[in-house]
Amino acid sequence: IFVLGIETSCDETAVSIVKNGTEIVSNVVSSQIESHKRFGGVVPEIASRHHVEQVTFVLQEALDQAEMTMEDVDCIAVTEGPGLVGALLIGVNAAKALAFAHNKPLVGVHHIAGHIYANRLIHEMTFPLLSLVVSGGHTELVLMKGHGEFEVIGETRDDAAGEAYDKVARTLGLPYPGGPHIDRLAHEGEPVIDLPRAWLEEGSYDFSFSGLKSSVINTLHNAKQKGNEIKPEDLAASFQASVIDVLVTKAKKAVEEYGVGQLLLAGGVAANKGLRETLESMFDSHACELIIPPLSLCTDNAAMIAAAGTILFEQGKRGGLDMNANPGLDLEQF
Ligand code: ATP
Ligand code: MG
Ligand code: FE
Repeated sequence: IFVLGIETSCDETAVSIVKNGTEIVSNVVSSQIESHKRFGGVVPEIASRHHVEQVTFVLQEALDQAEMTMEDVDCIAVTEGPGLVGALLIGVNAAKALAFAHNKPLVGVHHIAGHIYANRLIHEMTFPLLSLVVSGGHTELVLMKGHGEFEVIGETRDDAAGEAYDKVARTLGLPYPGGPHIDRLAHEGEPVIDLPRAWLEEGSYDFSFSGLKSSVINTLHNAKQKGNEIKPEDLAASFQASVIDVLVTKAKKAVEEYGVGQLLLAGGVAANKGLRETLESMFDSHACELIIPPLSLCTDNAAMIAAAGTILFEQGKRGGLDMNANPGLDLEQF
């Protein structure tokens, strides 16, 4: 079966066609990063306008690259939430219009379910498994006992990992999105600056990054006031070391406690070189299999939405033409 996925939850307009939930036939992403850069972050109104302008072109490109027409598509999957409401609405309405015009079934997909299912495009999923989701808006450990079953065993209580990366980058005067810049800088420096790690209560799989973020900002300001020099690359390396330490330690503990056979990395921060390397060395001789998607499938794309949508379609779930964008969609309930 061929599922056409549409993703417009944030600043990427994306359409993809996926075969049997595992094989990418076409995958087109139109990024708006250049338009948001000068504002230092995503401006919701600008994002919506870009999606409106781009979505039909991206759709046509995805069909052209697949050498398919809408008649060859079995189902339309679209990101229903969470995300920016105005941005989500463009994708949801495009999907509904297509479903209506071509009389095709429609399924609504949770954006984070999509990030997790990006892994199915490169590797078979075996249950139970854990997914470490690290993106711009989410940081969570998700336990899956079967397809489409999501149990959040831990999540951030304040900032997401990607958000912390972007804010620290902004403090260092780096362009948006800052994650890749911090990652690059971190590899040029040494983690010599003492920064906190938020372990939280014993046994908790929750995360917290706002204290770390504040600590980086304070360190920078204090040094400036005292006229001390701080190497940005050392600060980046120290920040990155703290983030990775907490993420990897909690993920490993959860893998052992829940006895899962796979750990899937998901979300934009999964593109982080330091995180990938640390996980790879830690799981090298481990009983648990580590799966990390290629960079292009870590950041927002529609292939992951089509992959997750295929499972929902096979499970008989359907969205109606009354589907609405749901910025607060819950992963465990949807
Ligand atoms: P969500 O998926 O939670 O709705 P989002 O879709 O905006 O949020 P993604 O597109 O998954 O987030 O990821 C974007 C985030 O990933 C940004 O915060 C960006 O800085 C971060 N990021 C990208 N590459 C790297 C990297 N190499 N190191 C650290 N962070 C990175
Ligand atoms: Mg994005
Ligand atoms: Fe995302």
